[in-house]
Amino acid sequence: RQRHLTLMVIGLNRFKAINDSLGIRGGDRVLIEVSKRLQRLRPAPLTVARISGDVFIVAFDHLKKRSLVEQLGRSIQQRIQDDMLMDSKTVKLSCAVGIARFPQNSVYADTLLSKANIALSQAKGSNSDSVVFYQRGMGADYIRLIDMEPELRQALDNDEFILHLQPVYTGSSKRLSSFEALIRWQHPSRGLLPPSEFLPFIEDLGWSIELDDWVLAKTAHILSTWRRQGLNTLPIAVNICARHFQNPDLISKLKQLFSRYQLSYQDIELEITENVAMTDIQAGLNVLAQLRELGIRVSIDDFGTGYSSLAYLRRLPVDKIKIDRSFISELLRDAHNSENVIVRSLIELSHGLRKRVVAEGVETQEQLNLLNGMRCDQVQGYLLSPPVNIQLAAELLSH
Ligand code: C2E
Ligand code: CA
Ligand code: CA
Ligand code: CA
Repeated sequence: RQRHLTLMVIGLNRFKAINDSLGIRGGDRVLIEVSKRLQRLRPAPLTVARISGDVFIVAFDHLKKRSLVEQLGRSIQQRIQDDMLMDSKTVKLSCAVGIARFPQNSVYADTLLSKANIALSQAKGSNSDSVVFYQRGMGADYIRLIDMEPELRQALDNDEFILHLQPVYTGSSKRLSSFEALIRWQHPSRGLLPPSEFLPFIEDLGWSIELDDWVLAKTAHILSTWRRQGLNTLPIAVNICARHFQNPDLISKLKQLFSRYQLSYQDIELEITENVAMTDIQAGLNVLAQLRELGIRVSIDDFGTGYSSLAYLRRLPVDKIKIDRSFISELLRDAHNSENVIVRSLIELSHGLRKRVVAEGVETQEQLNLLNGMRCDQVQGYLLSPPVNIQLAAELLSH
């Protein structure tokens, strides 16, 4: 027989005000009384618990019919609304109810609770004494996240991610100079997914550092395999998330990684977005200084899209600036076009600060010509090569 479980999350309305109006421990006594009333419900609940300040959960077994569940929700509201006598005061309570059901809404206990909570916030948002059933699409962003969690966990544990490598060339000679590692998800049913489909979830789940570690290890593995095959390797750049970059463990982890795979510090470069270094300047600067001391090269990614000032750029001990694609795509033959002026100045300025410049997203021969004219050091983009799989990258190396 199929088991049915109904989870109700009950949120008291205006509890803080009520609490403040009562004497010492008055609020606690109200909560105890609410709990008692919930325990006396018929049919008897499996569980009654308070999960935070003024929120209770009640679970019922066996209830199959939606109309019965709804009735029960209403009767909970009535019981809560019955006058409560505290000392000589009459306390009037009310509550909103959010409902999620097993197996209809989810078969996972934690997901079920999240969904009931979402239904509750919907109930509170609409009309604070309503009873709301969780429905597909409610709290869509959050639900997508918790629905994705098991899949993403599996992806990390089962190595479903792969790296593609995009070649970076020296501007004028079109000589291959390095690669950038770009992650993809080989999804068991949806095919090869780009980072935009899953990175935001990884971030929201707080797994960015774990993902970076995976990418770093994979990159080190690729390089050491190439070495063993006798290839002349080139550096591979890895994108590092903001939080990671302010984490002092990064340095010791990198040291371990390089020694385990017998790599030199020039083999892997790090890319950080401009904003990253900005959020906690001091932490960022410390990590940068240590990386520089080791000889690990760092690039500022997506340059021009953040808030950095030129003064700030001067203080950053980084080796390369990657000018964001949005500037490159606007380059025109007209030398006075504002993007041309910006890009030219950025290149000159960076050179003045002894930093190299990479242009990303170069798609046309004209853009390449203009960039060469501006003495841009390196270029990356579909014109020269899209990101390619590891095997193709190895072939590029042996040419
Ligand atoms: P990004 O670091 O700026 O990487 C460059 C993106 O531009 C890549 O997209 C690349 O495929 C794309 N691209 C390269 N050349 C061209 C071009 O000529 N035209 C156009 N329109 N696009 C071009 P992708 O692989 O989808 O990655 C998107 C972003 O996801 C990356 O932007 C990066 O921020 C992030 N990302 C990718 N892989 C990783 C990773 O392993 N770790 C982390 N933390 N972030 C990653
Ligand atoms: Ca990048
Ligand atoms: Ca970039
Ligand atoms: Ca970008």
